[in-house]
Amino acid sequence: MPLLKRKRDYARLVIIISGVLPLIIGIFFTALDARHTVRQQQVSAANTLLSQAERMSDSAWNMITELRQFQHQSCSQIENQLQRIGSLNPYFRAVGKMEENRIACSSAYGTKPGSLSDMIMRDAPVTGKAWWSLSIAGTAGVPDRPAVIFMRDLPDGEGFWAVIDGQYLIDFMRAISSTHLYHFSMEFNNGAPISFGDPQIALSGWFQPLIYQASSSRYPLSVTLIASPSELISAWRQVMLIIMPVAIIFSILLMMLMANWLQRRISWRDEIRRAIASGQFRAHYQPVYDNRQQRCSGAEALLRWTTPDGNGIRPDIFIGAAEAEGMIVPLTRHLLDLIAEDVQAWQVEPGFHLAINVAADHLQHPDFVDDMLHFADRVKDKQFLITLELTERSLIKDGVEVARKLEQLRGCGMKVAIDDFGTGHCSLSYLQTFTMDYLKIDRGFINAIESLEGRTPVLDAIIQLSHELELEVLGEGVESALQFSYLQRRGVVFIQGYYYARPMDNAALITWLARQGEQPVKANHASETHQTVSL
Ligand code: C2E
Ligand code: CA
Ligand code: CA
Repeated sequence: MPLLKRKRDYARLVIIISGVLPLIIGIFFTALDARHTVRQQQVSAANTLLSQAERMSDSAWNMITELRQFQHQSCSQIENQLQRIGSLNPYFRAVGKMEENRIACSSAYGTKPGSLSDMIMRDAPVTGKAWWSLSIAGTAGVPDRPAVIFMRDLPDGEGFWAVIDGQYLIDFMRAISSTHLYHFSMEFNNGAPISFGDPQIALSGWFQPLIYQASSSRYPLSVTLIASPSELISAWRQVMLIIMPVAIIFSILLMMLMANWLQRRISWRDEIRRAIASGQFRAHYQPVYDNRQQRCSGAEALLRWTTPDGNGIRPDIFIGAAEAEGMIVPLTRHLLDLIAEDVQAWQVEPGFHLAINVAADHLQHPDFVDDMLHFADRVKDKQFLITLELTERSLIKDGVEVARKLEQLRGCGMKVAIDDFGTGHCSLSYLQTFTMDYLKIDRGFINAIESLEGRTPVLDAIIQLSHELELEVLGEGVESALQFSYLQRRGVVFIQGYYYARPMDNAALITWLARQGEQPVKANHASETHQTVSL
């Protein structure tokens, strides 16, 4: 059957999606988390390096401040002290003095004069400032190792400088990297980069490398840290090891739940459809006693489902399933067909009540009025008083539209009863909004009757209210003579329940109507039974 096959394919697709979705979401969030972790590590590494570079800059500027004691002294006077200072302090490759804008003396080169650009192997930067620093690719003495020069210019071409060996920073970068695949690059004043790590890491793998840049707030210092894509992958792998087992369990659970739900959904729909086609549904009827006329004045149609193996499915179960699966409308139409056939054999007087339960979805269906009018037309020979039994729940949605439909049907001679009264919500407000003809008191309230004289306040209030609203009242689920008498005494006109008659199939109803339909329920019988009960 193509329709069924399409549904099965759809079900399979939904199950697959519900299995895959948690995994995709898991992968996505672990990727985000891994990226976040790598970024945090980068921030921390870059900031540690920046602090170290700031500390080195601090000590360089302190050194220069110390060297100012040699201002106005000649190189020959300070040569030894320079060498001592230069060699005693860590970090420093050389310290020295400028005279006439040339290097006059240095801790590393002695008093051999030379130009600044010779020493730093490039032109001095034009900063316009008396204090400046610059990272350089090398110095004349150590040309292939980067360094940082700190310069303090003084009036008359004098000045002091210090050169820090870039190796200290490189060693520090190595220490921070330890287990990570990072590439560091640090610049002082946009000078030559002092780098560590393989610059090629940025190019490897499918993923974009993570690049992080930070600058010092105190010095013209910046650092760029590139994390290899493999950093991202290994962080991702770690998070996945934790998250993915949970995602897999969740995905399996979701698939099982989905499969179960779809299975039930598909099977209920198909089962109901098949049961309609193969005639497994029957209408049963439960007579209603009229206290005024002292005879049976109507019957409620109740749907019954008997499967081919002879088992019955409870109406509250299959009606609930039909409502949930969107099958209640076809099912009720089928019931109307069954009733229309059954009643042809009935011998009842005009005005006999025929009560039909109407579900919320049907009430809201655009064809509801037509369906009911069509049914009324098919049974018009019998001159029934068709009563539509609605629950409070079915009145909640589309109130105005529902009221309009009910008015239209009432205009065509139908009656409206509110079923299971007192078990829903806002019952009283519905009584004002919708025009009702009957109120069926739920059997829960009838069960509360314990003695003829005792009071059942809620039940009494409902009966009282119905009288005041001029609604006819029906007590349902009346099982004992005591309950029967109690309701009779309080002016409840209609009685329905096992005490009077159980629901029965059509053949049984026809026989029952012929034998007992005209019989009154004898009051003495009721009170005798009551006496027996109360003893
Ligand atoms: P309901 O409309 O309140 O129907 C009355 C239920 O009470 C029926 O149960 C009936 O067999 C049962 N009943 C009658 N007298 C007594 C009694 O003295 N004692 C007890 N304990 N029960 C009594 P049933 O036939 O099992 O139906 C259950 C519910 O299923 C109905 O409650 C109604 O809500 C729904 N239902 C049955 N047939 C249809 C139908 O054709 N359409 C719709 N929409 N709902 C239906
Ligand atoms: Ca009912
Ligand atoms: Ca009811």
